[in-house]
Amino acid sequence: MADLKQQLLDWIEEDRRTLEGFFSDFVATPTPNPPGDTRKAVAHIRRFLDEHGLAHRVIDPEPMFPNVVASFDGSGEGRHLVLNGHIDVFPATPEPWTHGSPWSGAIEDGALWGRGSADMKCGTSASIFTYMYLSRLREHLNGRLTLTCVSDEETFGPWGARYLMEHHPEVHGDCCLNGEPSSPYSIRFAEKGPWWVTFHVTTKGAHGAYTHAGDSASLVAMDFCRDLQTSVDAIHVDPPHNIGRAIEEARDTLDRAMGAGAHAIIQKVTCNIGVIESGLKVNVIPGSATIEADFRLPVGCDRETVQRVVEEVLARWPQVTMEEQNYMGPSWCDPHGAMVGILQDNVEALVGYRPQPVVSLGGTDARLWRYRGIDAYVYGPFPTGMGQRDEHVPLDDFFHVIRSHALSAFDYLNGARS
Ligand SMILES: [Zn+2]
Repeated sequence: MADLKQQLLDWIEEDRRTLEGFFSDFVATPTPNPPGDTRKAVAHIRRFLDEHGLAHRVIDPEPMFPNVVASFDGSGEGRHLVLNGHIDVFPATPEPWTHGSPWSGAIEDGALWGRGSADMKCGTSASIFTYMYLSRLREHLNGRLTLTCVSDEETFGPWGARYLMEHHPEVHGDCCLNGEPSSPYSIRFAEKGPWWVTFHVTTKGAHGAYTHAGDSASLVAMDFCRDLQTSVDAIHVDPPHNIGRAIEEARDTLDRAMGAGAHAIIQKVTCNIGVIESGLKVNVIPGSATIEADFRLPVGCDRETVQRVVEEVLARWPQVTMEEQNYMGPSWCDPHGAMVGILQDNVEALVGYRPQPVVSLGGTDARLWRYRGIDAYVYGPFPTGMGQRDEHVPLDDFFHVIRSHALSAFDYLNGARS
């Protein structure tokens, strides 16, 4: 078995140029979402699979957002591992970028540059290569390996992983491994859940000089937002029993992976007032205002808990009504599941440290597996420049993610740590 794992590492080393070339061309095939058209990038993936003789199918309930799915069986009974990555990316941040256009895919200064390199064409490439290399060893493996490269992720749309999970149970599996940015020091086993709400403020308004004649919707909005923030901030949520310990143990790793202060908010309900719109003109007292709020619910928190508090606030502000935009609950799985130990062992053997299980602040498709009670873990590069200028992935990190995924998928299908 050690020989086969060394074989995997040797193949990756021999193929350096090919793997870099695939990643570079992948980034250089723009897939910004919106609009989310991934057809050219899907053609790129399919060419690679065809060149390696790997059967696959395209599932495209909406032709602009195709998904690529492939599976093979090992020689014996065993567990079913699903590799998942998305193809669409954030829109390009305006130029100038340091290394050409946002879609250059340039390899310079030891890194690969471009929109979507970190989130998440590095991780999706790792899934594709893992699938390709393990297919060569299929007679040594048990169980089943499935590859899912999906569209429509950035806007949490219905045509990508959500569609596959609802209509193609053959992609559920026993465990999902995903290469979204996590930092090489952490394995994400959970994520907070966004709840987006619009508030409408309606007052009488008046001529700007007649301040005695009507309330200002702008002032109500300001006071309401402060009340909302303070009230939500006071919500206390206890995490499910083994999650709290994992969060405490990963205190430093959380700050290292997501910036200083991340640990302090990981188990809190946060409230960001993303938008306030109000007023027509300097000399008019506004009669209406719109507020958009982004609440993030920690693991163990449900929408009803937050909604109750928001309704208490609303009771104090009869001028304000509420309208829900979107809700996706927080998701979590076993912080010490089989794949976590496998990843930790392999990463330690490769680079000398053990990544820690952590909760993610942002959202990924991994939640869809967790919602169904299936373990789903995220292990990928640093989120450097994600959604900003100069997004990039150091090539060392790119190869580290490929090696970690390939070796860990191998161990999982070999039944290590069952
Ligand atoms: Zn992503």
